[in-house]
Amino acid sequence: MGITTIENYIDGEWVASASGQALDVINPATGEAIARVPLSTAAEVDAAVQSAQEAFEEWRETPPYTRARAMFRLKGAIEENFEELSRIVVEENGKTIDEARGEVRRAIENVEVAAGIPSLMMGYNLEDVATNIDEEAVRQPLGVFCAIAPFNFPAMVPFWFLPYAVATGNTFVLKPSEQAPLTQTRLFELIDEIDLPPGVVNLVHGGKDTAQAMLEHPGIRGVSFVGSTPVAKHVYTTATAHGKRAQCQGGAKNFLVVMPDAVLDKTAGAITTSAFGNAGQRCLAGSVVLAVGDIYEPLKERLVEAARGLKVGYGLDPATQMGPVISPAALERITNYIEQGVQDGAKLLLDGRGVSVPEYPGGCFIGPTILDEAAPEMSIVQEEIFGPVLSIIQVDDFEEALAIMNNSRYGNAGSIFTSSGKWAREFKYRAQIGNVGINIGIAAPIASFPFGGMKDSFFGDLHGQGPDVINFYTERKIVITRWF
Ligand code: NAD
Repeated sequence: MGITTIENYIDGEWVASASGQALDVINPATGEAIARVPLSTAAEVDAAVQSAQEAFEEWRETPPYTRARAMFRLKGAIEENFEELSRIVVEENGKTIDEARGEVRRAIENVEVAAGIPSLMMGYNLEDVATNIDEEAVRQPLGVFCAIAPFNFPAMVPFWFLPYAVATGNTFVLKPSEQAPLTQTRLFELIDEIDLPPGVVNLVHGGKDTAQAMLEHPGIRGVSFVGSTPVAKHVYTTATAHGKRAQCQGGAKNFLVVMPDAVLDKTAGAITTSAFGNAGQRCLAGSVVLAVGDIYEPLKERLVEAARGLKVGYGLDPATQMGPVISPAALERITNYIEQGVQDGAKLLLDGRGVSVPEYPGGCFIGPTILDEAAPEMSIVQEEIFGPVLSIIQVDDFEEALAIMNNSRYGNAGSIFTSSGKWAREFKYRAQIGNVGINIGIAAPIASFPFGGMKDSFFGDLHGQGPDVINFYTERKIVITRWF
């Protein structure tokens, strides 16, 4: 059977890209091409933006209650197709079916929160700011927004933005990752069924040139980006230089501080899920354990034991606990980091290289890997590996752990495991990271909170999700009134 080239969704219609250039979308477990994704042209971006601009005036005047109802319909459509969507996530991304279900659930939660737009979008007022003068702040949508998304959460990440952009009365253009574009293609088929006016949402497939055309397009008012740090920086500087709002979430290096009074079993379990869930391809994945004092030896043993038992395989097999990484290039990058770590003096406690899944010889599999005796200056501690590799450093005390963590150029997430309120508070107060976990391995903000991130993990000021994203998608207009 031939594979199909997926289409763009522009002005309420599915249209084939005229670019003539396309890439294979590969199932990372089987190594097989499952579709082709077009690399759309600047003209196709322009067509989507023009359609979104034309749709904007009418959509912004549509009552927020009506826009909220569209969110209810979208939620219903996703719920009805929940299993199919989860399966598509596995096929194009590689994660396990349970992880995919968790991700689709997170996407739905964002639609649910956006359905509260009649309340979320309210302004505020104060009477008598001066004699006989009243003042109010109203929120208004701005126009066309776009989002550029990564491969690792193909259902969820675009939904940190899309539901809120649409519910606030803006119109929207999405470019999913060219490595994992199929989930959003299916989601847009569902969006097509919920009767939004043509042009309110548009889907344009492609890679960096397609994204660049969005960043430079004068019709786009703001850009939401999630991906690696070098690209996040580029998107931020380019978008702002073109007069756009920008919120750009970048890469990560997340440290897990384990105090001597941590609850050992639960801590080891939480760290294992954090480091090896999604095959380590999570921007919130724990990457370096900072074990304080005596907990180091027993923790190390538990971590190796738990990681060694993880079953690596195809995510659609219900017995699989860890799927493949996204591509041969990712596999090579991860393997190189492990080799470099060993060369730098770290000790391999568990080596995932060479793990094979006999049923799927073409898959990008690598097993959980644990490197002990790591040191702060090593690349395995400094840089984002984005794979199932956990490094361990023994430290003397909390201060040493905090200093190593805060020295990182990244500031996405981190956790402390402890039974002490004092250390938990110190960590919360002094950690230079945007998402803080206290006895939590993956500090993932739920939809009604913003997704944090600091330093080289975030460029901008208003984050995705929560009240931040409502601010990002609205102009706060101030009205001062006096009647003679
Ligand atoms: P990536 O940066 O390679 O690609 C992300 C998106 O940017 C894709 O849509 C891609 O087409 C586009 N792109 C690539 N080069 C571009 C360029 N020069 N100009 C404009 N657009 C360009 O990231 P990825 O490999 O898909 O995703 C993994 C990365 O995303 C990791 O670094 C991970 O930490 C990060 N991430 C961060 C968060 C967060 O919330 N901070 C969440 C998920 C993933």
